Amino acid sequence: MQTILIKGGRVIDPSQGIDRVADVTLDRGRVLAVGEGPESADVVIDARGMIVCPGLIDAHVHLREPGNEEDETIATGARAALAGGCTSVACMPNTRPAIDSQGAAEFVVLQARRARQANVYPVGAVSKGREGVELAELGQLVAGGAVAFTDDGAPVASASLMRRALQYAKMFDRCIMQHCQVLELTVGGVMNEGFESMKLGLGGMPAAAEDIMVARDIRLAEITGGRLHIQHISTERAVELVREGKRRGIDVTAEACPHHFTLTDDRLRTFDSNYKMNPPLRTGPDVEAVIEGLKDGTIDLLATDHAPHAAEKKLRELDQAPFGIVGLETLIPITALALIEPGHLTWADAIRKLTVEPARLLGIDKGTLRPGADADVTIIDPNTTWTIDPSAFYSKSRNTPYAGWEVHARAHTVIVSGEVRYTLGGIVRESAVPA
Ligand SMILES: [Zn+2]
Repeated sequence: MQTILIKGGRVIDPSQGIDRVADVTLDRGRVLAVGEGPESADVVIDARGMIVCPGLIDAHVHLREPGNEEDETIATGARAALAGGCTSVACMPNTRPAIDSQGAAEFVVLQARRARQANVYPVGAVSKGREGVELAELGQLVAGGAVAFTDDGAPVASASLMRRALQYAKMFDRCIMQHCQVLELTVGGVMNEGFESMKLGLGGMPAAAEDIMVARDIRLAEITGGRLHIQHISTERAVELVREGKRRGIDVTAEACPHHFTLTDDRLRTFDSNYKMNPPLRTGPDVEAVIEGLKDGTIDLLATDHAPHAAEKKLRELDQAPFGIVGLETLIPITALALIEPGHLTWADAIRKLTVEPARLLGIDKGTLRPGADADVTIIDPNTTWTIDPSAFYSKSRNTPYAGWEVHARAHTVIVSGEVRYTLGGIVRESAVPA
């Protein structure tokens, strides 16, 4: 395997507190060193003006395989991940059939290995068939490669099942990722419940549906000592609850998705289903609370909830269209636009929430440029103006609310296991060293 020298970039590795211009040398699939690089290498990458960081990790994506390959496959989703700068993703188990057995988890691992794009880690179902009744075989799922558990797409509605899941997952030091929503309160809901839903005459999903489940589960994490992760946090009160839970020493983490810190529910006035997601777009104060939570560390990580749906599904009427938007290929530019450029987070803060924090959550040996670490590296161009064009996505689906947005940052070159697997071109050169 080849040596790669990444020269002159701004190296940001929050796992080691590094933020300075340096070379990064990769050798035989591992990080050799950060610092002054060697004279020559098999491949030389000119990273001047770029950010060089550990490969980004998205802890929340839907890859739709098996069962909905018309929306996405493990191969296309893992390719979209690379194009978005992610070298590792954790995929949710709401496939058909659900990832609720060792064999199902192993299928994901195998398909990802065949695709040879980003690394893909399966998240197993909490309950058999994601039906919310009987606990899945968590131990077997771990044996098959599952890194966490969730019934995402739906919450674990039963408090007693959630309690047992937290207890049992703790034995494997895995977290339960919860889609927090009291379903009785959101039946028939299309968007956030409030002024906008009333005006539009659309079914509402109250913020309280999320808040109540977050409060319940934090309490269950407290009495079990289990690890609770709140997925796609979207309300002001939920952020407060996580902040308070952390203060009390409870093992709770949270993630926020770009749409929940960039868009509000008034967008639904267009009746465009690319603004329909679950949890829904909320209000201005909720967006501010999510940003505040990201700033003060209440919200540990950024994740996309990449939810591809084929065009014919999203083109249905708003109340019939499925929830969700694609997110992988807009993660970096939208994060930069909404959090970094206005000064809410530094690049180092954002990269921490996309490297060390998700690696810790998933318990995977990634997210660092320490010598000996897997050579997964993302090179970001932070200063390039471009327009988001869904027709250019690698994802099979195009359901994004960000089409036409002018943005300024982008994944440029992505290395996985010491292989350049994605590049916009122009900076990667085979060294001219004579054979
Ligand atoms: Zn969800």
